[in-house]
Amino acid sequence: MPTSLPRRRRASPVRRERAAQVNGLLAETYPDAHCELDHEGPLQLLVATVLSAQCTDARVNLVTPALFARYPSAADFAAADPEDVEEIIRSTGFFRSKAAAITGIGQALVERYGGEVPGRLEDLVTLPGVGRKTANVVLGNAFGVPGITVDTHVGRLARRLGWTRAEDPVEVEADLAALFPPEEWTMLSHRLIFHGRRTCFARKPACDRCPIAHLCPSAGTGEPPAPRRRPGPRTSATGA
Ligand code: SF4
Repeated sequence: MPTSLPRRRRASPVRRERAAQVNGLLAETYPDAHCELDHEGPLQLLVATVLSAQCTDARVNLVTPALFARYPSAADFAAADPEDVEEIIRSTGFFRSKAAAITGIGQALVERYGGEVPGRLEDLVTLPGVGRKTANVVLGNAFGVPGITVDTHVGRLARRLGWTRAEDPVEVEADLAALFPPEEWTMLSHRLIFHGRRTCFARKPACDRCPIAHLCPSAGTGEPPAPRRRPGPRTSATGA
C-alpha cells in the first residue's frame, strides 16, 4: 500500500482560485457537512469505515451500536469469534471478509500499538482491510490530520469539475492535493460527499438546482470535460 502520493506540480493560480470558489460555495451550501458514520473515538470510526465498503452509511449506523456495545475495545475485537461478529454485521454485505478484517485489526492494534489506533497514515495502512481511503477518514475525523477521502462521490465530482481525469483514487487524491491547501482537505471531502449524495448524483445529476453549475464544466450533462487536444504539427492544406 503506497504511503506517499504520486508527485504533482502545484496547480496554476487560476485553477486554484476557481477550485477555491467551488469549495467556498459548497461550504455555504453544506455548513453542517460532516462524517455521516456514527462513532465515538478512532477505533469506532476505523471499524465503521471498514464496514462502509460497498454499503451505505445509514446501514452501517444500524449495526454499529450493537457491535460497539459488545466489543468496546481493540482487545475485545482481537478476542472475538469472527462468526459472532459476522452475525452482527451480516446486513452490511461482504460480512465474512469484513469480520476477518475487524478482528484482524483488533489483533494488530493489540500486538503492535498497545491497543490504540495509530495516528499516522503509514501505520494505519498496515492494518488488515485498511487502505488510504479508510486511513484518511480516520486521520481527518479522529486525529485532526488533513486527509482527502477519495470515495466514489469524490472521484466522480472531481472528474466532473475538471479537477482530475484519473480514475485511480490515489491519482485523484494527488490531483486534489495539488489544487487545495491541506487545511481544506478533510472538509472538502465531506462537502463533495454531501453534494454527491444530494445533488450531483451518479446517474442523473440535478444540475438545474446545483449551486456550482456556473463553475462546472459538466453542467447539464454530467459528462466530465473532454481532454484538451494538443495542437499537432502544422501541415499544408494539401498535406504536403
Ligand atoms: S453542475 Fe451538474 S455535474 Fe456539475 S457539480 Fe453540479 S450537479 Fe454535478
